[in-house]
Amino acid sequence: MVKICCIGAGYVGGPTMAVIALKCPSIEVAVVDISVTRIAAWNSDQLPIYEPGLEDVVKQCRGRNLFFSTDVEKHVSEADIIFVSVNTPTKTRGLGAGKAADLTYWESAARMIADVSKSDKIVVEKSTVPVKTAEAIEKILTHNSKGINYQILSNPEFLAEGTAIEDLFNPDRVLIGGRETPEGRNAVQALKEVYANWVPEDRIITANLWSAELSKLAANAFLAQRISSVNAISALCEATGANVAEVAFAVGKDTRIGPKFLNASVGFGGSCFQKDILNLVYICECNGLPEVANYWKQVIKINDYQKSRFVNRVVSSMFNTVAGKKIAVLGFAFKKDTGDTRETPAIDVCKGLLGDKAKISIYDPQVTEDQIQRDLAMNKFDWDHPLHLQPMSPTAVKEVSVTWDAYDATKGAHGICILTEWDEFRKLDYAKIYENMQKPAFVFDGRNVVDPEKLREIGFIVYSIGKPLDP
Ligand code: NAD
Repeated sequence: MVKICCIGAGYVGGPTMAVIALKCPSIEVAVVDISVTRIAAWNSDQLPIYEPGLEDVVKQCRGRNLFFSTDVEKHVSEADIIFVSVNTPTKTRGLGAGKAADLTYWESAARMIADVSKSDKIVVEKSTVPVKTAEAIEKILTHNSKGINYQILSNPEFLAEGTAIEDLFNPDRVLIGGRETPEGRNAVQALKEVYANWVPEDRIITANLWSAELSKLAANAFLAQRISSVNAISALCEATGANVAEVAFAVGKDTRIGPKFLNASVGFGGSCFQKDILNLVYICECNGLPEVANYWKQVIKINDYQKSRFVNRVVSSMFNTVAGKKIAVLGFAFKKDTGDTRETPAIDVCKGLLGDKAKISIYDPQVTEDQIQRDLAMNKFDWDHPLHLQPMSPTAVKEVSVTWDAYDATKGAHGICILTEWDEFRKLDYAKIYENMQKPAFVFDGRNVVDPEKLREIGFIVYSIGKPLDP
């Protein structure tokens, strides 16, 4: 029986391994993590992450051929194939701070693999890593253990949170990069055979190691660039009376462009887009390509601009101050169908409003109060994002309350900011909400989920990203 071990039981490691276990009953899959609480949650009825369809998959194979454990060394030493899916955040200090990927977790995982391995291993990069990381990992492994053959593969994960299970069941492609040696090719073949259990052959593509590593960074940069492009156009729409939804529809009808990822919004978030572009920027700079670095930097700058533009719009519409006014924030997760708040635009928007002394009442169906308070109290590293510079005082965080439904959050509020496109926000009884708000009652729709005309009929003053303003 082939044994797989995955180091890192997070948003990627957990769902990815659950799907491999489901689709490959003859493979034993162990997902290991240093976090005792995370592993305990994976072994309970309250999984540590919310992802549609995940619970069902885990229930089908947990205890059969899927195991979650903190015994990292045991499972790594027994495995034939080791996926490494640890976090690779942006470095916060030292060389490359604010841009380069922090590979500390990766390096310690690699050193541990070298320490405990007694047989040949295939080590798979599942985390998103800078191009050439495999070379560094090879050095760590081969210099720390003798007589063991390690083959490093790059197999970046392209799943999107909120649709992870669907994406894993039916991926656009599975990319595997390996060394162009006989051993490298055998390792690629072994991993291909795992995916071939459910992924059609023509969707499993192979590449050299560096192409595979770089493809993941490039894919995220392209996706984020589309969002920043449409968001940049949304600003122009507001200035001219054009409607970004109509512009995006017309642009997306061009088959060379396509309709996906053209929704204007308050900005992109999530743990990956910003960090991966920063990483790309850093790699370009290190390779003597400052113009290319500057090109990609603009994608983040527009994203920051979009968030601050939104905050400014809220404040200026509400007679140039939100001091002492209650603002209801609907949605805190960085997108719908996830409870993940990493890099969510809601953090910057709330901080911006609190900076103008607003009182904020937040409702999100999947985000806990602890998470929100932690996110708002955290000071992020800044390289040149004006919004991230604002430190949060403990008093400001006290101006935030978290509620269990949208009606409670909006009661007595002067304005509503919709920051996540949860389906339930489309179906709210806005007439009832209007009745219970201060007047004039404002709605600032950062995700274009409501019909502005219908809300105007009720009496709201409505701002929707990129759409003609309230007359
Ligand atoms: P995560 O923070 O949710 O999970 C990482 C896990 O690794 C944590 O539980 C942590 O405790 C564990 N870990 C760290 N060092 C360890 C060690 N030495 N031994 C055992 N466990 C260790 O991160 P994530 O969102 O799953 O992302 C993981 C990687 O996948 C990142 O590189 C990310 O860029 C990439 N990625 C993420 C997504 C996404 O949507 N989240 C999509 C594609 C790729």
